[in-house]
Amino acid sequence: MRILLVEDEKNVAAFIKKGLVEEAYTVDVAEDGPEGLLMATTADFDLIILDVMLPGLNGIEVCKTLRGKGINKPILMLTAVDSVERKVEGLESGADDYLVKPFAFSELLARIKALLRRTTDIVSELSLDDLRVDLLARRVYRGKREIILTQKEFSLLEYLLRNKGRVLSRTQIIENVWGYDFSPGTNIVDVHIKSLREKVNKGFERQLIHTVRGTGYIMKGDDDL
Ligand code: CA
Repeated sequence: MRILLVEDEKNVAAFIKKGLVEEAYTVDVAEDGPEGLLMATTADFDLIILDVMLPGLNGIEVCKTLRGKGINKPILMLTAVDSVERKVEGLESGADDYLVKPFAFSELLARIKALLRRTTDIVSELSLDDLRVDLLARRVYRGKREIILTQKEFSLLEYLLRNKGRVLSRTQIIENVWGYDFSPGTNIVDVHIKSLREKVNKGFERQLIHTVRGTGYIMKGDDDL
């Protein structure tokens, strides 16, 4: 899952990002209102965390503009101002939920999970052939054998499986699994695909992750070839 965090306070942004990355979310940070608006309208995020007090354009204006453009992804507003008016203003602008700073990370995480459950198709399991991914327990099985993955490998597998049958370019994979922090010039995708593929295919005849030469990667069973 890919989250856009619009927050100008660097230490707060770093704290939230670090926690979410540990939970295997992909996080992109925008440091002001206009940048947040641009990123939210040009890339596909599953959820947006929007600080209210932002340079350039405040969070309420960003939220109104996004809703006006028909972007209906869940928006969680953050603010240091604990006042009823701000809360009402935030929710009226189209935000789905509201969290007052300072907050415990566990509270933020709980709100994010609740919003994602409410607004995205509830899928607790992804599968292909005899490969099964339990998204809630974050465990992966091939047949009866459990496959132990790193956090990044898990995110990568989840993204590939959510798009099974579709060819994904390295740029798409980087944007959705690593975020904008990595330039498409790196070979990070190939390195992770290699290790993921070894784990997923090891000891099995059927290959599930395929290279599309010159383009990228696709996940599909041999039967679909
Ligand atoms: Ca702020």
